[in-house]
Amino acid sequence: MHIEFFTLFPGFFDSPLTNAIFQRACDKGLVSFDVHNIRDYTHDKHHITDDYPYGGGAGMVLKPEPIFEAVEAALVGHNEAERYAVVLMTPQGRPFSQAAACRLAGYDRLLFICGHYEGVDERVRTHLATEEISLGDYVLSGGELPALVVADSVMRLIPGVLGSIESTCEESHTAGLLEYPHYTRPSEFRGLRVPEVLLSGHHVEIAKWRHQESIRRTLVRRPDLLNGAPLSPSDRRLISILEAEMLTGGGQLSP
Ligand code: SAH
Repeated sequence: MHIEFFTLFPGFFDSPLTNAIFQRACDKGLVSFDVHNIRDYTHDKHHITDDYPYGGGAGMVLKPEPIFEAVEAALVGHNEAERYAVVLMTPQGRPFSQAAACRLAGYDRLLFICGHYEGVDERVRTHLATEEISLGDYVLSGGELPALVVADSVMRLIPGVLGSIESTCEESHTAGLLEYPHYTRPSEFRGLRVPEVLLSGHHVEIAKWRHQESIRRTLVRRPDLLNGAPLSPSDRRLISILEAEMLTGGGQLSP
């Protein structure tokens, strides 16, 4: 996969792209990156990339020409067989999710447009971007961090990027549930013991416990997720039992 960022602040990407998963994915030859400075696509003496909003009001708006030119230059000679998406990062976009990450992982090439100030000229949204993604219902000062967040969550789904692909299968939000709790050595820490079943070596019982804990966690912390989760009849029975426990326990259930 080739991932490209279009930004006014290319230095923003220096550290993230040369550390941890970004670096590893690159070293393995599974992902490559390009950071394009939007300012390089201006033609005036002062390299102006923003201007006052038509109609007045506070803040500056990123001009359309350099953004269009930067993205179009990157796409010159694009291989028709490769699937790509031009993603505009905006708090007005579709809220990002694990399902969206899975969908984006199916592309060969992702181009992220990072806005700043009041955002980008509307024509970038209507005639250049193929999709708009929001990281959540809050406003950041630039699209760099959200673009990196999306790139991270997409990259780790590409087979081979993580040590073992299984590590993404049971994760929170992948199967519609939150993941079960994890423990590691020591088996007892400051009097706090690891649940016996995990020390038993009994794989069937461990899998059963983990599934139950996954459901319990989701019920306590994110009951809204259960509506969309694939639940078996025994899962539903378990949920009824846990709900009854919650009622008798005054709403308390160990998370
Ligand atoms: N005036 C705009 C906000 C601009 S914030 C509005 O009210 O909608 C400046 C830039 O930061 C945006 O262009 C976008 O690229 C980025 N940004 C801010 N919040 C974001 C969010 N929640 N998700 C994705 N990108 C965001």
